[in-house]
Amino acid sequence: PSITRGVTVEIPKVSWEDIGGLKDLKKKLQQAVEWPLKHSAAFSRLGVSPLRGILLHGPPGCSKTTLAKAAAHAAQASFFSLSGAELYSMYVGEGEALLRNTFRRARLAAPSIIFFDEADVVAAKRGGSSSSNIAVGERLLSTLLTEMDGLEQVKGILVLAATNRPHAIDAALMRPGRFDLVLYVPPPDLEARHEILRVHTRDMKLGNDVDLRQIAEDSELFTGAELEGLCREAGIVALREDISATVVCNRHFLTVRDSLKPALTIEEID
Ligand code: ATP
Repeated sequence: PSITRGVTVEIPKVSWEDIGGLKDLKKKLQQAVEWPLKHSAAFSRLGVSPLRGILLHGPPGCSKTTLAKAAAHAAQASFFSLSGAELYSMYVGEGEALLRNTFRRARLAAPSIIFFDEADVVAAKRGGSSSSNIAVGERLLSTLLTEMDGLEQVKGILVLAATNRPHAIDAALMRPGRFDLVLYVPPPDLEARHEILRVHTRDMKLGNDVDLRQIAEDSELFTGAELEGLCREAGIVALREDISATVVCNRHFLTVRDSLKPALTIEEID
């Protein structure tokens, strides 16, 4: 991938199958992303205006970024990634310039997806912040609004934004023609946890006694990111026990499971 400060571009390699659970959500995204990007000519033939923005919200570590990448992979779209926090921390004018520049490059590389992580940092409700830096946020937000409105004339660009704090997003971004689709990405349920464990043990050598279903049952409130960590750690525990080990056994998973406490609490789940 080519990298300039604050933005990376590539067609991601992650596919839908790399994401456990979220069957309906994946289908919705697939339609919302692949169709307009792949068939933009058909949309304009019928005079149907495609979606320009999708907001993904939900707790950290539950695959918002991975979903955006899988969508780009499926549509074979260039993937431009921006972080709200990073834009916010730049020198005066630099963040706006990077935003404009990213949209310009995305137009040239279309079909493109611009992924905007921690969107609430930039798109926070105007007047809602107590910081002395409100002006920075407001200038970034108005640049973003201008660029999104400009997409009306452009085909094959979609903005996907992610946030853990959807209520903090400025209402101006939620108007028609901006973030038209809002999708909640929930923490994984039992079935999803089982699938996530399968995804992240795909390339591991597992002992016959490993019971991923039981581990999924015993890992309520774990996020996808935590389950991924659990699998990796189990492998490390096995190696620490015996550096010539040939398989990872159930007890290694259990050791790690017992040592972890999920960061999410029931109250945080919408
Ligand atoms: P944040 O809000 O912190 O940016 P996020 O919701 O964007 O988090 P990701 O960055 O997509 O989460 O996920 C973090 C890691 O967890 C990834 O490496 C991904 O492989 C893994 N992961 C999360 N959810 C799943 C899932 N459903 N299936 C497989 N892996 C997952």
